[in-house]
Amino acid sequence: MNLKDKVCIITGAASGIGLGIAKRYVADGAKVVIADLKLDAAQKTADALTADGPGEAMAVEMDVTDEDMVNAGVAKVIDTWGQIDVLVSNAGVQIVHPIEDFPFDQWKKLLSIHLDGAFLTSKAVMPHMQKAGSGSIIFMGSVHSKEASALKSAYVTAKHGLLGLARVISKEGAKHGIRANVICPGFVKTPLVEKQIPEQARDLGISEEEVVNKVMLGETVDQEFTTIEDVAEVAHVFAAFPTNALTGQSLVVSHGWYMN
Ligand code: NAD
Repeated sequence: MNLKDKVCIITGAASGIGLGIAKRYVADGAKVVIADLKLDAAQKTADALTADGPGEAMAVEMDVTDEDMVNAGVAKVIDTWGQIDVLVSNAGVQIVHPIEDFPFDQWKKLLSIHLDGAFLTSKAVMPHMQKAGSGSIIFMGSVHSKEASALKSAYVTAKHGLLGLARVISKEGAKHGIRANVICPGFVKTPLVEKQIPEQARDLGISEEEVVNKVMLGETVDQEFTTIEDVAEVAHVFAAFPTNALTGQSLVVSHGWYMN
């Protein structure tokens, strides 16, 4: 199971989990597309990954909520490398408020990045995967694809929705060799989570230490954060798996926080 010369688009890959997956794929010889909001950040990431090798990386400026930008980014990849083998739809944000205070525009923004982003990128890559007769589509879900937490109505709704979209892609994609999976991490220390610690402390009226030890890690078996490398390893397995046997499945990577 390896990704040598496979063309892999990863959204939100200039930071955090997406960057970790990009590193893992390039280390395995893949050709990785760093698709992110800002071209300069994506380019810097791509250059550093290419320097490390043995695979290589290119940068694409992409707002995953913008259909024209998504289509233009995918067209650029086809022009450059001629195929798309793997999509990791990973770009995401977190916005926390109690429901009664949740600004409607913020609700729509979060749903659009997670759900429109997954839909638009899948829609754009699937014709190329169909033509090739194979492909792997991976959505970055969360323990919040299966579990709820206070203050996260939009995020929990979006992450649950990704399970449904992956199952439909599994059914529609099977005859073309296209597989779909969802990775469901627990808390991983990335900029997205660092930002939440003071916000949750404020909204829940507790200390930042309590947010980490009780809210984020309280249900794990070892009080440890999930690591970027843990998630990247699972993303490698799903992308490189040789058959349809795992299609439609989601895998929770959470140090025992969620076990069902
Ligand atoms: P991060 O903030 O480190 O990285 C997110 C990346 O997405 C950034 O590079 C950002 O520029 C990009 N992005 C945001 N909006 C975008 C858009 N509209 N178009 C293109 N790119 C966009 O966050 P992270 O923690 O690495 O999160 C990555 C994914 O993992 C998200 O989907 C998140 O929900 C999910 N996740 C994170 C955790 C965690 O604990 N960190 C846990 C479970 C799931």
